[in-house]
Amino acid sequence: MSLEQKRQIVTAIPGPKSLALQQRRSEVISSGVGTMLAAFIEEAHGAILKDVDGNQFIDFGSGIGVVTIGHTNPGVVEAVSNQVAKLTHTLFTVTPYEPYVRAGELLTSHAPGNFKKKAAFFNSGAEAVENAVKIARKATGRTEIAVFDHSYHGRTNLTMSMNFKVHPYGTGFGPLAGSVHHAPMSYPYRDPAEMTGPEAATRAITYLEKRVGAAQIAALFIEPIQGEGGFIVPAPGYLKTLQDWTRANGIVFVADEVQSGMARTGKWFASEWEEGLEPDLITVAKGIAGGMPLSGVVGRAEIMDAAHAGGLGGTFGGSPTAVAAGVAVMEQYESGNWFNRALEIGEIISGRLNAMKNSYPVIGDVRGRGAMQAIELVEPGTKNPNPAATEALLKHCHQNGVLVLNAGTYNNVLRFLPPLAISDELVHDALDVLAAGLAKL
Ligand SMILES: *Cc1c(COP(=O)(O)O)cnc(C)c1O
Repeated sequence: MSLEQKRQIVTAIPGPKSLALQQRRSEVISSGVGTMLAAFIEEAHGAILKDVDGNQFIDFGSGIGVVTIGHTNPGVVEAVSNQVAKLTHTLFTVTPYEPYVRAGELLTSHAPGNFKKKAAFFNSGAEAVENAVKIARKATGRTEIAVFDHSYHGRTNLTMSMNFKVHPYGTGFGPLAGSVHHAPMSYPYRDPAEMTGPEAATRAITYLEKRVGAAQIAALFIEPIQGEGGFIVPAPGYLKTLQDWTRANGIVFVADEVQSGMARTGKWFASEWEEGLEPDLITVAKGIAGGMPLSGVVGRAEIMDAAHAGGLGGTFGGSPTAVAAGVAVMEQYESGNWFNRALEIGEIISGRLNAMKNSYPVIGDVRGRGAMQAIELVEPGTKNPNPAATEALLKHCHQNGVLVLNAGTYNNVLRFLPPLAISDELVHDALDVLAAGLAKL
């Protein structure tokens, strides 16, 4: 790694060069493309981001769970460099190439489910979700789509209609797509204390049966751990109960693992943490290709084959360089070492966050799995969301060289998604910064 793995702040944040770039940017780039922290990043390796002013940040966000394998992972760099020098484009639906097939072999063999699977590749998470909707509708001959409160599925017309929060994703961008129905999610921190996973699932099922009708529903889309919603981990048995119901009613169960998948939780997929869960389809994107734009849908062969030839595709989807990166990432995951690392990192983070929760009642909940951890901030002594404290902590971390992300329907969650290439020392250093911020609140 050519960049010292060390946090280092040498100017105000953002620094003078970033401010000058921000000025240029504001002249030509749409204001609709917002930015959380206007430090312009020049390079990154491992778990460190370096900005144009020479500041070095510990990356606790991985570009929202994308560079899970670490910035400029040598295997990914080599695979992409080789591929880009050999072949960058034909369009797989015009003339195919081998790495697309190899990526499909890897994805189908590691997705959960004891049945024959097939895959297809696209560019973005939203595109994968849209294609899963198309496939499920074609396979079932039905139209309606079930989604959940606090969900996030993307920014295209259909996926923004599937999101829970209208703002900022949908405000003024309507008309939204129809035939999308939000059911109550299992949210253990905010549900009644005695509510079990199966009971929470029954609440959602009853709603869908009454409001939509099981026989109308083509697919149920759910994030096994909600990402933008604030790393909400449903109660045990919730997902399995939903799956039993979808199977009994001919509904396609789709796990949106765009954020939770690909080693992030210490397994290939977060779905594997729920006993007996075998989604019919899984959507993947963020962590699959070390930063290259690649997404996919994987699942039951007979469902994936329901789409007619020519019905799926897109000019850049599964481009040679993107699938080459995906192959390099998935082949490294096969060793299992990255999964162990995700679990180790998760233990350090959750251990320290739970200790902070004992000292600082502003932390209402600590939750997550593996290297996907979050805190939900509340007004001490209540469960009232505390977005002001969240914002203050976020700023404190950024000013001190730790790039953390916020999340949550109530803007009161801080989430931690470090690259798995991070050292224990850097994890502790970042958490020390967070602890200092809590002490200051
Ligand atoms: C980010 C995300 C998406 C959308 O992915 P894009 O690549 O941004 O289109 C969809 N679903 C989930 C769960 C996500 O976290």
